[in-house]
Amino acid sequence: MSETFRAILISRDEARNQSVDIVEMTPDQLMDGDVDVAVEATTVNYKDGLAITGKAPVVRRWPLIPGIDLAGTVITSAHPDWQPGDRVILNGWGVGETHHGAYAGRARLRGEWLVALPERFTAMEAMAIGTAGYTAMLSVMALERAGMTPDSGPVVVTGAAGGVGSVAVALLAGLGWHVVASTGRPGEADWLRDLGAAEIIDRSELSEPGKPLGKERWAAGIDAVGSHTLANVLAATSYGGVVACCGLAQGMDLPASVAPFILRGVSLLGIDSVMAPKQRRVEAWGRLARDLDAARLGAITTEIGFDAIVDTAKAIVEGRIRGRVVVDMQA
Ligand code: NDP
Repeated sequence: MSETFRAILISRDEARNQSVDIVEMTPDQLMDGDVDVAVEATTVNYKDGLAITGKAPVVRRWPLIPGIDLAGTVITSAHPDWQPGDRVILNGWGVGETHHGAYAGRARLRGEWLVALPERFTAMEAMAIGTAGYTAMLSVMALERAGMTPDSGPVVVTGAAGGVGSVAVALLAGLGWHVVASTGRPGEADWLRDLGAAEIIDRSELSEPGKPLGKERWAAGIDAVGSHTLANVLAATSYGGVVACCGLAQGMDLPASVAPFILRGVSLLGIDSVMAPKQRRVEAWGRLARDLDAARLGAITTEIGFDAIVDTAKAIVEGRIRGRVVVDMQA
């Protein structure tokens, strides 16, 4: 097929200097896969920011179209589960890392990576959720599987004004939890309260080196930040509490002690969205369709067009993006 489409392409020269260009491509330049999808909406996650700025080794093959999330319509399929016209979502699986990704008019993917777009959502709404929101849902589901309920006590969400954090605040509040939102942006306190946060704390309370154990402040946590913040969240988790660890915005380290685990029976659960099995993805998207309030999702979302992706990628790495950014690929 000779039809062309726009794409963002990350290249690397012999000196390993990275460049990012907007190019025209044809379908025969895409990588192997059995389903072609017309990309209608995508998003800019923190990980996409790292890929485009080159600040962390997210991209591991060059040249590569970045973008880890997309929603769109199947154009052609050789996979038994999908027919032309089907509405689908893709999150992760190495797309935008080692396989050409979402920042293009067309994507060629493997059928087993795709999830049906829940009827409740448009492509734009699904991407307003994106990997960040689906990871927030995986984190909530992990807390629930560990027996945590709103009756267990408060839940803390770190990086609350970011993508994972803001969806987690909205979801947990909708499910009836008392949400403590930790943020470094006091100017977003009213916005976080509107999303359902019951209390706002300054992230500086958690981001400095702390004691192995502190006052018990919450029964559960969703941490998108890592490093000292996660260590301090664990140290303030009450007896038998559970914390889901899903991010590293402060750092990949975990300068903690075993005290919360062996003296308070606290559990730390790891959350990975990229290689999560299909059954869990389908469950997470079903729960998002059921549990995420439409008005709260709207309040989290900012819309941009294709041409603004690269600048937005820089902004998200600098912590300047509130909530979730959705990209209208037709704009
Ligand atoms: P965002 O940039 O949207 O949000 C991150 C938030 O973390 C910021 O908004 C800020 O919140 C807070 N933050 C940033 N820098 C620091 C710092 N130095 N110290 C303390 N807090 C900080 O990113 P996402 O929500 O998209 O992703 C959050 C994290 O989760 C990332 O590390 C990402 O890689 C990870 N992730 C992991 C996934 C998985 O599969 N496990 C999937 C998706 C994301 P505030 O302004 O409120 O302080």
